[in-house]
Amino acid sequence: MNNNQMPVGDLMNASLPHISGNFGNIFHSDNYDHYRSAVEETLDLVGTFLHRNQKPFSGIEAKEMKGMVQQIDLNQKLSSYQELLDEVDTIYVKHATAFHLPQYVAHLNCPIVIPALAGEILVSAINSSQDTYDQSAGGTFMERKLIDWTAEQLGYSPDKSDGVFTAGGSQSNLMGLVMMRDCFSQKRYNHTIKLDGLPQEAGRFRIFVSDKSHFSNLKNASIMGLGEKSIVKVPTDERFCMDIALLKKYIKREEQMGNIPIGIVATAGTTDFGNVDPLEDIANIAEQYNIWMHVDAAYGCALLLSEKYRHLLNGIERADSVTIDYHKSFFQPISSSAFIVKNKRELRILKHHADYLNPAEMDEEEIPAQINKSIIQSTRRFDALKLWFTLRMMGKEQLAEYTDTVIDLTKDVASMIRENADFELLSDTDLSVLVFRYIRPDVEDLNALNQYIKMKLFYSGEVLVASTKADGNFYLKFTFLNPITTTEDVHQILNKIKAHGEDFGTAN
Ligand SMILES: *Cc1c(COP(=O)(O)O)cnc(C)c1O
Repeated sequence: MNNNQMPVGDLMNASLPHISGNFGNIFHSDNYDHYRSAVEETLDLVGTFLHRNQKPFSGIEAKEMKGMVQQIDLNQKLSSYQELLDEVDTIYVKHATAFHLPQYVAHLNCPIVIPALAGEILVSAINSSQDTYDQSAGGTFMERKLIDWTAEQLGYSPDKSDGVFTAGGSQSNLMGLVMMRDCFSQKRYNHTIKLDGLPQEAGRFRIFVSDKSHFSNLKNASIMGLGEKSIVKVPTDERFCMDIALLKKYIKREEQMGNIPIGIVATAGTTDFGNVDPLEDIANIAEQYNIWMHVDAAYGCALLLSEKYRHLLNGIERADSVTIDYHKSFFQPISSSAFIVKNKRELRILKHHADYLNPAEMDEEEIPAQINKSIIQSTRRFDALKLWFTLRMMGKEQLAEYTDTVIDLTKDVASMIRENADFELLSDTDLSVLVFRYIRPDVEDLNALNQYIKMKLFYSGEVLVASTKADGNFYLKFTFLNPITTTEDVHQILNKIKAHGEDFGTAN
Protein backbone atom coordinates (compact mmCIF):
# COMPACT_ATOMS: atom_id res chain seq x y z
CA MET A 1 0.00 0.00 0.00
CA ASN A 2 1.48 3.35 -0.94
CA ASN A 3 0.67 6.65 0.76
CA ASN A 4 -2.02 7.54 -1.75
CA GLN A 5 -4.10 4.53 -0.78
CA MET A 6 -3.79 4.88 3.00
CA PRO A 7 -6.80 5.93 5.06
CA VAL A 8 -6.51 9.58 6.02
CA GLY A 9 -6.06 8.83 9.74
CA ASP A 10 -3.04 6.63 9.08
CA LEU A 11 -1.61 9.17 6.72
CA MET A 12 -1.42 11.76 9.47
CA ASN A 13 0.87 9.46 11.42
CA ALA A 14 2.93 8.18 8.51
CA SER A 15 6.54 9.15 8.69
CA LEU A 16 7.20 11.87 6.18
CA PRO A 17 10.29 13.98 5.74
CA HIS A 18 10.34 16.52 8.54
CA ILE A 19 10.05 20.12 7.45
CA SER A 20 10.74 22.76 10.00
CA GLY A 21 12.07 26.20 10.79
CA ASN A 22 12.44 28.42 7.78
CA PHE A 23 10.46 26.06 5.61
CA GLY A 24 7.33 26.21 7.72
CA ASN A 25 5.66 28.34 5.05
CA ILE A 26 5.82 25.65 2.41
CA PHE A 27 2.50 23.91 1.73
CA HIS A 28 3.33 20.43 2.95
CA SER A 29 1.86 17.82 5.27
CA ASP A 30 4.21 18.81 8.10
CA ASN A 31 2.84 22.34 7.93
CA TYR A 32 -0.85 21.50 7.70
CA ASP A 33 -1.54 23.10 11.11
CA HIS A 34 -0.01 26.33 9.87
CA TYR A 35 -2.06 26.18 6.66
CA ARG A 36 -5.25 25.48 8.56
CA SER A 37 -4.84 28.25 11.13
CA ALA A 38 -3.82 30.79 8.48
CA VAL A 39 -6.93 29.95 6.47
CA GLU A 40 -9.15 29.99 9.56
CA GLU A 41 -7.91 33.41 10.63
CA THR A 42 -8.49 34.67 7.12
CA LEU A 43 -11.96 33.16 7.15
CA ASP A 44 -12.72 35.27 10.21
CA LEU A 45 -12.04 38.33 8.09
CA VAL A 46 -14.49 37.01 5.51
CA GLY A 47 -17.01 36.78 8.33
CA THR A 48 -16.24 40.34 9.35
CA PHE A 49 -16.74 41.48 5.76
CA LEU A 50 -20.12 39.76 5.57
CA HIS A 51 -21.42 40.94 8.92
CA ARG A 52 -19.96 44.41 9.07
CA ASN A 53 -20.11 45.76 5.51
CA GLN A 54 -23.80 46.55 5.20
CA LYS A 55 -23.42 48.96 2.33
CA PRO A 56 -22.14 47.87 -1.09
CA PHE A 57 -19.37 50.47 -0.87
CA SER A 58 -17.78 52.63 1.81
CA GLY A 59 -17.82 55.67 -0.46
CA ILE A 60 -14.09 56.31 -0.05
CA GLU A 61 -12.47 58.55 -2.64
CA ALA A 62 -9.71 57.18 -4.86
CA LYS A 63 -7.24 59.76 -3.56
CA GLU A 64 -7.59 58.63 0.03
CA MET A 65 -7.50 54.97 -0.95
CA LYS A 66 -4.33 55.49 -2.93
CA GLY A 67 -2.66 57.28 -0.03
CA MET A 68 -3.40 54.43 2.36
CA VAL A 69 -1.95 51.81 0.05
CA GLN A 70 1.07 53.88 -0.91
CA GLN A 71 2.29 54.52 2.60
CA ILE A 72 2.88 50.81 3.21
CA ASP A 73 6.50 49.70 3.14
CA LEU A 74 6.57 46.33 1.38
CA ASN A 75 10.15 45.73 2.48
CA GLN A 76 9.10 45.69 6.13
CA LYS A 77 7.46 42.38 6.88
CA LEU A 78 4.76 41.86 9.47
CA SER A 79 5.00 39.53 12.44
CA SER A 80 1.62 37.83 12.55
CA TYR A 81 -1.41 37.00 10.46
CA GLN A 82 -3.40 39.22 12.77
CA GLU A 83 -1.28 42.23 11.82
CA LEU A 84 -1.53 41.29 8.18
CA LEU A 85 -5.29 40.83 8.28
CA ASP A 86 -5.72 44.15 10.09
CA GLU A 87 -3.68 45.87 7.40
CA VAL A 88 -5.59 44.23 4.56
CA ASP A 89 -8.88 44.98 6.27
CA THR A 90 -7.98 48.66 6.46
CA ILE A 91 -6.80 49.09 2.90
CA TYR A 92 -9.03 46.58 1.16
CA VAL A 93 -11.82 44.65 2.87
CA LYS A 94 -13.43 47.67 4.57
CA HIS A 95 -13.84 49.36 1.23
CA ALA A 96 -14.33 46.36 -1.05
CA THR A 97 -17.41 46.42 -3.24
CA ALA A 98 -19.96 43.98 -1.84
CA PHE A 99 -21.54 42.36 -4.87
CA HIS A 100 -23.73 40.11 -2.76
CA LEU A 101 -25.86 42.92 -1.31
CA PRO A 102 -29.22 43.71 -2.93
CA GLN A 103 -28.15 47.36 -3.04
CA TYR A 104 -25.45 46.45 -5.53
CA VAL A 105 -27.21 46.75 -8.88
CA ALA A 106 -24.42 48.19 -11.01
CA HIS A 107 -22.32 45.95 -13.26
CA LEU A 108 -22.40 42.32 -14.33
CA ASN A 109 -20.99 41.01 -11.05
CA CYS A 110 -23.12 38.17 -9.81
CA PRO A 111 -23.36 37.04 -6.22
CA ILE A 112 -21.44 33.80 -5.87
CA VAL A 113 -22.55 30.45 -4.49
CA ILE A 114 -21.02 28.68 -1.53
CA PRO A 115 -20.27 25.32 -3.21
CA ALA A 116 -18.04 27.17 -5.70
CA LEU A 117 -16.18 28.84 -2.83
CA ALA A 118 -15.60 25.47 -1.18
CA GLY A 119 -14.23 24.22 -4.50
CA GLU A 120 -11.97 27.26 -4.66
CA ILE A 121 -10.15 26.03 -1.55
CA LEU A 122 -9.06 22.92 -3.43
CA VAL A 123 -8.30 24.84 -6.60
CA SER A 124 -5.85 27.08 -4.81
CA ALA A 125 -4.37 24.54 -2.39
CA ILE A 126 -3.76 21.66 -4.78
CA ASN A 127 -2.93 24.14 -7.52
CA SER A 128 -3.25 21.82 -10.50
CA SER A 129 -2.36 23.29 -13.84
CA GLN A 130 -4.74 22.45 -16.63
CA ASP A 131 -2.30 22.64 -19.51
CA THR A 132 -1.35 18.96 -19.59
CA TYR A 133 -2.54 15.68 -18.16
CA ASP A 134 0.66 15.26 -16.15
CA GLN A 135 -0.09 18.50 -14.28
CA SER A 136 -3.78 17.91 -13.64
CA ALA A 137 -4.82 14.24 -14.17
CA GLY A 138 -8.52 14.08 -13.22
CA GLY A 139 -8.74 17.85 -13.65
CA THR A 140 -8.26 17.49 -17.40
CA PHE A 141 -11.19 15.09 -17.71
CA MET A 142 -13.42 17.02 -15.32
CA GLU A 143 -12.88 20.19 -17.34
CA ARG A 144 -13.63 18.26 -20.54
CA LYS A 145 -16.79 16.84 -19.04
CA LEU A 146 -18.01 20.32 -18.08
CA ILE A 147 -17.23 21.56 -21.58
CA ASP A 148 -19.23 18.67 -23.04
CA TRP A 149 -22.04 19.40 -20.61
CA THR A 150 -22.09 23.05 -21.64
CA ALA A 151 -22.01 22.06 -25.32
CA GLU A 152 -25.02 19.86 -24.69
CA GLN A 153 -26.91 22.77 -23.12
CA LEU A 154 -26.13 24.73 -26.29
CA GLY A 155 -27.63 21.99 -28.43
CA TYR A 156 -24.27 20.99 -29.91
CA SER A 157 -23.42 17.36 -30.36
CA PRO A 158 -20.86 16.70 -27.59
CA ASP A 159 -18.79 14.28 -29.67
CA LYS A 160 -18.34 16.82 -32.44
CA SER A 161 -17.89 19.93 -30.29
CA ASP A 162 -15.09 20.96 -27.98
CA GLY A 163 -13.82 23.90 -26.00
CA VAL A 164 -11.76 25.11 -23.12
CA PHE A 165 -12.06 27.18 -19.97
CA THR A 166 -10.69 30.70 -20.36
CA ALA A 167 -9.92 33.72 -18.21
CA GLY A 168 -13.06 35.56 -19.29
CA GLY A 169 -15.51 36.53 -21.98
CA SER A 170 -13.07 38.88 -23.69
CA GLN A 171 -10.59 36.04 -24.16
CA SER A 172 -13.33 33.69 -25.36
CA ASN A 173 -14.44 36.32 -27.87
CA LEU A 174 -10.83 36.60 -29.04
CA MET A 175 -10.81 32.86 -29.67
CA GLY A 176 -14.03 33.17 -31.66
CA LEU A 177 -12.59 35.89 -33.88
CA VAL A 178 -9.28 34.09 -34.39
CA MET A 179 -11.08 30.92 -35.45
CA MET A 180 -13.32 32.97 -37.73
CA ARG A 181 -10.37 34.68 -39.37
CA ASP A 182 -8.12 31.64 -39.69
CA CYS A 183 -10.82 29.25 -40.93
CA PHE A 184 -11.89 31.80 -43.50
CA SER A 185 -8.34 32.22 -44.84
CA GLN A 186 -7.83 28.49 -44.91
CA LYS A 187 -11.04 27.74 -46.77
CA ARG A 188 -11.08 30.69 -49.11
CA TYR A 189 -7.38 31.09 -49.96
CA ASN A 190 -5.83 27.89 -48.67
CA HIS A 191 -3.69 30.26 -46.62
CA THR A 192 -2.56 29.23 -43.11
CA ILE A 193 -2.37 32.36 -40.96
CA LYS A 194 -0.79 30.47 -38.09
CA LEU A 195 2.28 29.77 -40.21
CA ASP A 196 2.31 32.51 -42.79
CA GLY A 197 0.77 35.49 -41.04
CA LEU A 198 -2.03 37.56 -42.46
CA PRO A 199 -2.88 37.15 -46.15
CA GLN A 200 -2.82 40.17 -48.44
CA GLU A 201 -6.61 40.33 -48.36
CA ALA A 202 -6.72 40.70 -44.55
CA GLY A 203 -6.80 44.49 -44.78
CA ARG A 204 -10.24 44.11 -46.32
CA PHE A 205 -11.64 41.53 -43.87
CA ARG A 206 -14.87 42.68 -42.25
CA ILE A 207 -16.64 41.35 -39.14
CA PHE A 208 -20.23 42.37 -38.40
CA VAL A 209 -21.37 43.13 -34.86
CA SER A 210 -24.21 45.20 -33.47
CA ASP A 211 -23.50 48.69 -32.19
CA LYS A 212 -24.39 47.41 -28.71
CA SER A 213 -21.91 44.52 -28.84
CA HIS A 214 -19.11 44.26 -26.29
CA PHE A 215 -16.06 46.48 -26.80
CA SER A 216 -13.76 43.46 -26.57
CA ASN A 217 -14.54 42.80 -30.24
CA LEU A 218 -12.77 46.03 -31.14
CA LYS A 219 -9.79 45.30 -28.94
CA ASN A 220 -9.56 41.77 -30.26
CA ALA A 221 -9.67 42.88 -33.90
CA SER A 222 -6.92 45.30 -33.13
CA ILE A 223 -4.59 42.76 -31.53
CA MET A 224 -5.35 40.32 -34.36
CA GLY A 225 -3.82 42.74 -36.83
CA LEU A 226 -7.13 43.41 -38.57
CA GLY A 227 -7.55 46.81 -36.99
CA GLU A 228 -10.67 48.26 -35.47
CA LYS A 229 -11.69 49.24 -38.99
CA SER A 230 -12.49 45.56 -39.63
CA ILE A 231 -15.37 45.73 -37.15
CA VAL A 232 -18.54 46.94 -38.82
CA LYS A 233 -21.12 48.11 -36.30
CA VAL A 234 -24.63 47.39 -37.47
CA PRO A 235 -27.24 49.70 -35.93
CA THR A 236 -29.80 48.23 -33.56
CA ASP A 237 -33.59 48.31 -33.62
CA GLU A 238 -35.88 49.87 -31.01
CA ARG A 239 -35.08 47.07 -28.54
CA PHE A 240 -31.33 47.59 -29.10
CA CYS A 241 -30.96 44.26 -30.96
CA MET A 242 -29.10 43.94 -34.24
CA ASP A 243 -31.30 45.17 -37.07
CA ILE A 244 -31.38 42.33 -39.58
CA ALA A 245 -32.42 44.38 -42.59
CA LEU A 246 -29.48 46.68 -41.90
CA LEU A 247 -27.13 43.74 -41.39
CA LYS A 248 -27.96 42.53 -44.90
CA LYS A 249 -27.56 46.04 -46.26
CA TYR A 250 -24.23 46.60 -44.50
CA ILE A 251 -22.82 43.29 -45.76
CA LYS A 252 -23.78 44.20 -49.34
CA ARG A 253 -22.39 47.68 -48.92
CA GLU A 254 -19.02 46.37 -47.68
CA GLU A 255 -18.87 43.94 -50.59
CA GLN A 256 -19.58 46.72 -53.04
CA MET A 257 -16.67 48.64 -51.54
CA GLY A 258 -14.43 45.64 -52.25
CA ASN A 259 -14.29 44.43 -48.66
CA ILE A 260 -14.62 40.80 -47.57
CA PRO A 261 -17.18 39.67 -44.96
CA ILE A 262 -15.61 36.91 -42.85
CA GLY A 263 -18.13 36.52 -40.05
CA ILE A 264 -20.84 37.83 -37.76
CA VAL A 265 -20.80 38.18 -33.99
CA ALA A 266 -24.27 37.96 -32.45
CA THR A 267 -24.65 39.13 -28.87
CA ALA A 268 -26.90 37.01 -26.68
CA GLY A 269 -27.51 39.48 -23.91
CA THR A 270 -25.91 42.86 -24.43
CA THR A 271 -24.06 44.38 -21.51
CA ASP A 272 -26.13 47.55 -21.64
CA PHE A 273 -29.63 46.27 -22.38
CA GLY A 274 -29.57 42.52 -21.80
CA ASN A 275 -31.28 41.82 -25.08
CA VAL A 276 -30.56 38.92 -27.42
CA ASP A 277 -29.84 39.54 -31.11
CA PRO A 278 -32.09 37.58 -33.52
CA LEU A 279 -30.01 34.42 -33.60
CA GLU A 280 -31.98 32.46 -36.21
CA ASP A 281 -31.91 35.33 -38.68
CA ILE A 282 -28.21 35.88 -38.16
CA ALA A 283 -27.56 32.14 -38.59
CA ASN A 284 -29.45 32.24 -41.89
CA ILE A 285 -27.33 35.09 -43.18
CA ALA A 286 -24.05 33.51 -42.02
CA GLU A 287 -25.12 30.32 -43.78
CA GLN A 288 -26.02 32.16 -46.95
CA TYR A 289 -22.57 33.81 -47.09
CA ASN A 290 -20.84 30.70 -45.79
CA ILE A 291 -19.13 32.72 -43.05
CA TRP A 292 -18.47 32.12 -39.34
CA MET A 293 -21.09 32.94 -36.73
CA HIS A 294 -19.87 33.56 -33.20
CA VAL A 295 -22.33 34.15 -30.36
CA ASP A 296 -21.16 36.25 -27.44
CA ALA A 297 -23.33 34.71 -24.72
CA ALA A 298 -21.10 35.95 -21.88
CA TYR A 299 -24.20 37.25 -20.15
CA GLY A 300 -27.06 35.45 -21.90
CA CYS A 301 -25.68 31.98 -21.17
CA ALA A 302 -27.78 32.13 -18.00
CA LEU A 303 -30.81 31.35 -20.16
CA LEU A 304 -29.37 27.99 -21.20
CA LEU A 305 -30.54 26.35 -18.00
CA SER A 306 -33.94 28.02 -17.75
CA GLU A 307 -36.94 26.10 -18.99
CA LYS A 308 -38.99 29.25 -18.86
CA TYR A 309 -36.67 31.44 -20.92
CA ARG A 310 -34.44 29.00 -22.88
CA HIS A 311 -36.38 29.72 -26.08
CA LEU A 312 -34.79 33.18 -26.24
CA LEU A 313 -31.57 31.42 -27.27
CA ASN A 314 -33.13 29.39 -30.07
CA GLY A 315 -30.68 29.33 -32.96
CA ILE A 316 -27.57 29.41 -30.76
CA GLU A 317 -26.99 25.76 -31.75
CA ARG A 318 -26.37 26.96 -35.30
CA ALA A 319 -23.43 29.16 -34.29
CA ASP A 320 -19.89 27.98 -35.04
CA SER A 321 -18.66 29.09 -31.64
CA VAL A 322 -19.96 30.53 -28.39
CA THR A 323 -18.59 32.57 -25.48
CA ILE A 324 -19.81 31.51 -22.05
CA ASP A 325 -19.07 33.47 -18.87
CA TYR A 326 -19.89 31.38 -15.83
CA HIS A 327 -18.61 34.27 -13.71
CA LYS A 328 -21.30 36.52 -15.15
CA SER A 329 -24.29 34.24 -15.15
CA PHE A 330 -23.67 30.97 -13.32
CA PHE A 331 -22.97 32.52 -9.89
CA GLN A 332 -19.28 31.59 -10.11
CA PRO A 333 -16.33 33.40 -8.55
CA ILE A 334 -13.97 35.11 -11.00
CA SER A 335 -12.46 33.63 -13.16
CA SER A 336 -14.69 31.08 -14.80
CA SER A 337 -15.46 31.22 -18.51
CA ALA A 338 -15.39 29.04 -21.57
CA PHE A 339 -15.05 29.07 -25.31
CA ILE A 340 -17.06 26.37 -27.09
CA VAL A 341 -16.74 25.45 -30.73
CA LYS A 342 -19.25 23.39 -32.68
CA ASN A 343 -16.73 21.52 -34.83
CA LYS A 344 -13.72 20.40 -32.83
CA ARG A 345 -11.55 19.92 -35.92
CA GLU A 346 -11.42 23.69 -36.30
CA LEU A 347 -9.58 23.96 -32.99
CA ARG A 348 -6.44 22.46 -34.52
CA ILE A 349 -5.63 25.99 -35.66
CA LEU A 350 -4.57 26.78 -32.11
CA LYS A 351 -2.37 23.77 -31.57
CA HIS A 352 1.32 24.18 -30.95
CA HIS A 353 3.67 21.39 -29.95
CA ALA A 354 6.24 22.14 -27.29
CA ASP A 355 8.73 19.33 -26.89
CA TYR A 356 8.66 19.60 -23.12
CA LEU A 357 4.85 19.66 -22.74
CA ASN A 358 2.91 18.07 -25.56
CA PRO A 359 5.35 16.67 -28.12
CA ALA A 360 3.90 15.90 -31.54
CA GLU A 361 4.29 12.15 -31.07
CA MET A 362 2.08 12.15 -27.95
CA ASP A 363 -1.19 10.33 -28.59
CA GLU A 364 -3.92 12.81 -27.81
CA GLU A 365 -6.66 10.27 -27.33
CA GLU A 366 -4.63 8.53 -24.69
CA ILE A 367 -3.00 11.49 -22.99
CA PRO A 368 -5.00 14.64 -23.70
CA ALA A 369 -3.54 18.10 -23.25
CA GLN A 370 -5.92 21.00 -22.79
CA ILE A 371 -3.11 23.35 -23.80
CA ASN A 372 -3.80 22.27 -27.38
CA LYS A 373 -6.99 24.28 -27.22
CA SER A 374 -5.83 27.27 -25.27
CA ILE A 375 -5.11 30.46 -27.16
CA ILE A 376 -2.64 32.16 -24.85
CA GLN A 377 -2.67 30.59 -21.40
CA SER A 378 -0.21 27.78 -20.68
CA THR A 379 -0.21 27.46 -16.88
CA ARG A 380 -3.89 27.66 -16.08
CA ARG A 381 -6.01 27.34 -12.93
CA PHE A 382 -8.47 24.49 -12.45
CA ASP A 383 -11.38 26.95 -12.41
CA ALA A 384 -13.66 24.22 -13.71
CA LEU A 385 -13.67 22.61 -10.27
CA LYS A 386 -15.76 25.48 -8.89
CA LEU A 387 -18.45 24.82 -11.48
CA TRP A 388 -18.20 21.09 -10.72
CA PHE A 389 -18.85 21.75 -7.01
CA THR A 390 -21.76 24.00 -7.96
CA LEU A 391 -23.49 21.63 -10.36
CA ARG A 392 -23.06 18.61 -8.12
CA MET A 393 -24.38 20.36 -5.02
CA MET A 394 -27.11 22.52 -6.53
CA GLY A 395 -28.05 20.81 -9.76
CA LYS A 396 -28.81 22.79 -12.88
CA GLU A 397 -32.44 23.20 -11.77
CA GLN A 398 -31.51 25.39 -8.83
CA LEU A 399 -29.21 27.53 -10.95
CA ALA A 400 -32.10 27.92 -13.40
CA GLU A 401 -34.42 28.86 -10.55
CA TYR A 402 -32.05 31.63 -9.45
CA THR A 403 -31.93 32.95 -13.01
CA ASP A 404 -35.71 32.81 -13.42
CA THR A 405 -36.14 34.63 -10.12
CA VAL A 406 -33.84 37.41 -11.27
CA ILE A 407 -35.57 37.77 -14.64
CA ASP A 408 -39.01 37.79 -13.04
CA LEU A 409 -37.86 40.45 -10.57
CA THR A 410 -36.62 42.55 -13.47
CA LYS A 411 -40.01 42.34 -15.17
CA ASP A 412 -41.71 43.53 -11.98
CA VAL A 413 -39.25 46.39 -11.62
CA ALA A 414 -39.76 47.36 -15.26
CA SER A 415 -43.49 47.75 -14.60
CA MET A 416 -42.76 49.63 -11.40
CA ILE A 417 -40.57 52.15 -13.24
CA ARG A 418 -42.98 52.47 -16.14
CA GLU A 419 -45.86 53.27 -13.83
CA ASN A 420 -43.89 55.87 -11.89
CA ALA A 421 -44.11 59.35 -13.36
CA ASP A 422 -40.77 60.33 -11.81
CA PHE A 423 -38.93 57.89 -14.05
CA GLU A 424 -38.54 57.09 -17.69
CA LEU A 425 -37.68 53.55 -18.78
CA LEU A 426 -35.70 53.36 -22.00
CA SER A 427 -36.19 49.72 -22.94
CA ASP A 428 -37.37 46.38 -21.67
CA THR A 429 -34.93 43.48 -21.46
CA ASP A 430 -34.69 39.77 -22.24
CA LEU A 431 -32.42 39.34 -19.24
CA SER A 432 -32.04 41.65 -16.27
CA VAL A 433 -30.78 45.11 -17.20
CA LEU A 434 -32.94 48.21 -17.03
CA VAL A 435 -31.84 51.53 -18.45
CA PHE A 436 -33.82 54.50 -17.15
CA ARG A 437 -33.55 58.02 -15.85
CA TYR A 438 -35.07 60.23 -13.24
CA ILE A 439 -37.07 63.12 -14.60
CA ARG A 440 -38.12 66.38 -13.05
CA PRO A 441 -40.37 68.68 -15.08
CA ASP A 442 -38.60 71.78 -13.74
CA VAL A 443 -35.14 70.54 -14.73
CA GLU A 444 -34.08 70.91 -18.32
CA ASP A 445 -30.68 69.26 -18.16
CA LEU A 446 -31.67 65.66 -17.40
CA ASN A 447 -28.11 64.49 -18.06
CA ALA A 448 -26.71 66.68 -15.31
CA LEU A 449 -29.55 65.63 -13.01
CA ASN A 450 -28.89 61.92 -13.44
CA GLN A 451 -25.11 62.30 -13.32
CA TYR A 452 -25.56 64.11 -10.02
CA ILE A 453 -27.72 61.27 -8.67
CA LYS A 454 -25.19 58.63 -9.67
CA MET A 455 -22.33 60.51 -8.08
CA LYS A 456 -24.27 61.07 -4.85
CA LEU A 457 -25.21 57.40 -4.62
CA PHE A 458 -21.62 56.30 -5.25
CA TYR A 459 -20.09 58.43 -2.52
CA SER A 460 -22.81 57.59 -0.05
CA GLY A 461 -22.02 53.95 -0.83
CA GLU A 462 -25.59 53.00 0.02
CA VAL A 463 -26.59 51.97 -3.46
CA LEU A 464 -24.40 51.26 -6.47
CA VAL A 465 -25.99 51.76 -9.86
CA ALA A 466 -24.30 51.89 -13.24
CA SER A 467 -24.89 54.28 -16.10
CA THR A 468 -24.73 54.32 -19.85
CA LYS A 469 -25.43 56.58 -22.77
CA ALA A 470 -28.12 56.22 -25.38
CA ASP A 471 -28.47 58.71 -28.22
CA GLY A 472 -25.96 60.86 -26.42
CA ASN A 473 -28.04 61.06 -23.27
CA PHE A 474 -27.02 59.89 -19.82
CA TYR A 475 -29.07 57.11 -18.24
CA LEU A 476 -28.91 55.17 -15.01
CA LYS A 477 -28.68 51.40 -15.27
CA PHE A 478 -29.75 48.57 -13.01
CA THR A 479 -28.20 45.16 -13.54
CA PHE A 480 -30.01 42.54 -11.48
CA LEU A 481 -28.15 39.30 -10.84
CA ASN A 482 -29.04 38.57 -7.25
CA PRO A 483 -31.99 36.24 -6.60
CA ILE A 484 -32.15 37.55 -3.02
CA THR A 485 -33.08 41.05 -4.19
CA THR A 486 -36.78 41.81 -3.75
CA THR A 487 -39.06 44.37 -5.35
CA GLU A 488 -39.17 46.04 -1.93
CA ASP A 489 -35.36 46.45 -2.03
CA VAL A 490 -35.65 48.05 -5.45
CA HIS A 491 -38.52 50.21 -4.30
CA GLN A 492 -36.22 51.63 -1.63
CA ILE A 493 -33.43 52.11 -4.12
CA LEU A 494 -35.78 54.10 -6.35
CA ASN A 495 -36.76 56.23 -3.36
CA LYS A 496 -33.11 57.03 -2.68
CA ILE A 497 -32.63 57.97 -6.32
CA LYS A 498 -35.64 60.20 -6.11
CA ALA A 499 -34.45 61.84 -2.88
CA HIS A 500 -31.10 62.76 -4.46
CA GLY A 501 -32.93 63.89 -7.58
CA GLU A 502 -35.08 66.24 -5.52
CA ASP A 503 -31.95 67.69 -3.90
CA PHE A 504 -30.41 68.50 -7.25
CA GLY A 505 -29.95 72.21 -7.73
CA THR A 506 -30.98 73.09 -4.17
CA ALA A 507 -28.07 72.19 -1.88
CA ASN A 508 -25.39 73.58 -4.18
C1 LIG B 1 -18.70 41.08 -19.70
C2 LIG B 1 -18.89 40.80 -21.13
C3 LIG B 1 -17.81 40.36 -21.91
C4 LIG B 1 -16.40 40.29 -21.37
O1 LIG B 1 -16.27 39.28 -20.44
P1 LIG B 1 -15.11 39.34 -19.34
O2 LIG B 1 -15.33 38.08 -18.60
O3 LIG B 1 -15.35 40.57 -18.54
O4 LIG B 1 -13.82 39.37 -20.08
C5 LIG B 1 -18.05 40.05 -23.22
N1 LIG B 1 -19.27 40.18 -23.74
C6 LIG B 1 -20.34 40.60 -23.03
C7 LIG B 1 -21.67 40.73 -23.69
C8 LIG B 1 -20.17 40.93 -21.70
O5 LIG B 1 -21.21 41.39 -20.99
